[in-house]
Amino acid sequence: QVVVVGSCMTDLVSLTTRLPKAGETVLGHKFFIGFGGKGANQCVQSARLGANTSLICKVGKDSFGNDYVENLKKNGISTAFVDQTTDAATGTASIIVNSEVKTLFNPAPALADLDPQFYIYSDIFCCNETEAEILTGIPVGNLEDAEKVGRMLLERGCKLVIVTLGAEGCMMISVEEPIPKHVPAGKVRAVDTTGAGDSFVGALAFYLAYYPKLSMEEMIRKSNCIASVSVQASGTQSSYPYRKDLPQDLF
Ligand code: ADP
Repeated sequence: QVVVVGSCMTDLVSLTTRLPKAGETVLGHKFFIGFGGKGANQCVQSARLGANTSLICKVGKDSFGNDYVENLKKNGISTAFVDQTTDAATGTASIIVNSEVKTLFNPAPALADLDPQFYIYSDIFCCNETEAEILTGIPVGNLEDAEKVGRMLLERGCKLVIVTLGAEGCMMISVEEPIPKHVPAGKVRAVDTTGAGDSFVGALAFYLAYYPKLSMEEMIRKSNCIASVSVQASGTQSSYPYRKDLPQDLF
C-alpha cells in the first residue's frame, strides 16, 4: 500500500513561440489542460506500476477539482481521503507512507527553514539539486557537491539521503553506509524532464512498498530507469510509463 500526502494541481499549458515581456500579449499556438501537482504525480506513477495507492489532499469545489477527482479514479487511485470541502488546494511537501510505516520525504517546494523534525522522522529524505541548495546553501553542480549535501543532512538527523541529479542519476548516503554511492541513470534522449523527480519518487515508493527486500541501491537503480523513461516523452503525468510497457526485469 502506498499513501501519498501532497498536492493536486491543474496545469494550464500554453505553447507560444516566446515568453511575453511584462504587460505584453503574445499569441499561443496550442493550449492544453493537464494534471500535475507533486503528490498526485507521485501517486500516478506508483499506481501505473501496479501499487495499491491512495492520495491525501485537498481540492477545490470547482470544475478543476471535480476533474481531478475523476483523473485520480481513472488512474485507479483511491480518493477516499481527497477533501473537496474547501477551496484550498495547496501542499508544501509530500510524504509517502507504506504499510511498514516507512516515510519517504520529498521536501518540495523546499524551505530554507524546514522544521528539523522532517530530517529526524523521515526514513528516506529525497531531494533534487535545487531543493538541496535551498536546504543546505550548497550549490549542487556535481557529485562531490551532492556528497557534501548528503553528509550535512545526515548531521541534521537524516537516516538515508538521496539527491537526484537529473541525467547523472542519484547520490545516496546513509547512516548505515556513510560512504556516498553514485547510482547513474541510463543514457537517453531527453525530450521533457518536467516531473522526472516525481516519477522517480513515485517509483521508489512503489519499490519500498512492494519489493522491500531489494537493496536501496537496486531500488534507486530501477527508479532511475523508470524516471528516465518519463523524460523521453513530453508532459508530466502523460509521460509516466505503465508497468506493461516497461522491461519486465524491473519487477
Ligand atoms: P526534478 O525533476 O525534481 O528536478 P531530477 O532532474 O533530478 O529531478 O530528475 C529525477 C530523476 O529523473 C533522475 O534522478 C533520473 O533518474 C531521471 N532523469 C532526469 N533527467 C534525466 C535525463 N536527462 N536522462 C536520464 N534520466 C533522467
